Amino acid sequence: MLWDLSNKTVPEPEATPGEECAICFCHAANTCLVPCGHTHFCSYCAWRVFRDTAKCPVCRWQIEAVAPARHPPALRTEERS
Ligand SMILES: [Zn+2]
Ligand SMILES: [Zn+2]
Repeated sequence: MLWDLSNKTVPEPEATPGEECAICFCHAANTCLVPCGHTHFCSYCAWRVFRDTAKCPVCRWQIEAVAPARHPPALRTEERS
């Protein structure tokens, strides 16, 4: 049996076609700032900003937590007529 040694990389957020991190432009923007809800940052940059200034670079809102952003739900307006 052969061991696949090439499969040794650290799992990293893959760049999605959607959006790149607004800070490093390197990783996928997969992190959500709480409570402002901005999702323009990868987890690395989000945590760095959180530890550094704890303020959202976009809106300057105080960051209270950093949460993983799931794939943004399809914009769906569930209106009842
Ligand atoms: Zn980043
Ligand atoms: Zn914000």
